[in-house]
Amino acid sequence: MAYANVPYYRHKYDQYGVDMKSIKTLADLQKLPVITKDEIREQFPEGIISKQYDINQCHYSATTGSTGRSLPFIFSKATFAFYIATGVRLYTMIGYRPWHKLVYIKYTPLEYPRFGPFFRTEHIPSTIPVDEQIAMLRKMKPDLLIGYASLIYEIALRMTPEDLKSIRPKFIGLNSELSNKDQRELISQIFNCPVYDEYSTEETWMVASQCKKGKYHVFIDNVWVEYLDKSGNPVKPGEEGEIYLTTTRSPAMPFIRYRIGDLGRESTQTCSCGLPYPIIEEFNGRADDSFILPSGKYLSSLKILNTFTKNIKKHLHLMEEFKVIQEEPGLIVIKFVKGKEYQEKHLTELVDALKKVFGEPVTIRVDFVDEIKTNSIKRKAIESRVGKKQVG
Ligand SMILES: [Zn+2]
Repeated sequence: MAYANVPYYRHKYDQYGVDMKSIKTLADLQKLPVITKDEIREQFPEGIISKQYDINQCHYSATTGSTGRSLPFIFSKATFAFYIATGVRLYTMIGYRPWHKLVYIKYTPLEYPRFGPFFRTEHIPSTIPVDEQIAMLRKMKPDLLIGYASLIYEIALRMTPEDLKSIRPKFIGLNSELSNKDQRELISQIFNCPVYDEYSTEETWMVASQCKKGKYHVFIDNVWVEYLDKSGNPVKPGEEGEIYLTTTRSPAMPFIRYRIGDLGRESTQTCSCGLPYPIIEEFNGRADDSFILPSGKYLSSLKILNTFTKNIKKHLHLMEEFKVIQEEPGLIVIKFVKGKEYQEKHLTELVDALKKVFGEPVTIRVDFVDEIKTNSIKRKAIESRVGKKQVG
């Protein structure tokens, strides 16, 4: 399918000399070359979108991931509906019911289907100040609260006893970035409800999620996960490898052996919860740092990242890449690689948005660079060099 309809895959596989007739099962994927984020970015849209889809009929988005490099992507309407359904299935697994109210925190709202009194969902923007988010939560009174780990952590730290009287979720789901166990425990303790963690990316959607036993199950009906070593060979179960994802439900823009930039370890064990899906034992990556501001307040790294994401959705080629470093409590340095449509006024717009996110006087300095060097696959877009001690 991808070979016939996506020009870049066709070109790549022909060059690599793949005999497409020999590709029949997921195990045959190993015969195909892998693809990187940079390749996809360069090929977007003509090279990487299926000829059978009209981009204007699709759900379009862009992400900064946590690598600091933007990636535009599309889903067909059918794929998007499937993704929403996988979310509902996952939340049902942890106790969500159709009459519960779901509130999610994201930079822009999703187009959720509406069914009268059922599946009520409301959106809170991720980039607004934490006090405003809390005020919205007090009004919305979620049963299920879904959002980025560091944002919900930031909210949890600001909860007053008065807030907790009206904000009483039955469960909380954390997505899109890695949280640590201490953070999850503290969130769970503050809200007095279970907290489930999810491993997902915006472009491939749900990869794995914690079950009631706390194990991360891989949603193999959405993505196929491979764990490869540096030369691209599979590592043994239980050994750490780089994670490569193949999406099975996104024909408009398929990701095939896509290098996501995280490390993981496939578990050799089964889980007592009874779910048939395989388990990821451990994964590492996306470990962006959150900032402690001069006033002592905690600022989620995602809030910074989402401000970039919102901006990139508006000005796709403003930048090639960026990195935000907190050099001193009050000094923030943005390393910035200009994109082909760079304009100073758009950068100013971004910096002004960031100032609002910080919410207190800090100096923001932009350093223009040709590239951002890294010697690890675990890139960080947001890094704090202050004290190196994190709350939690
Ligand atoms: Zn389980």
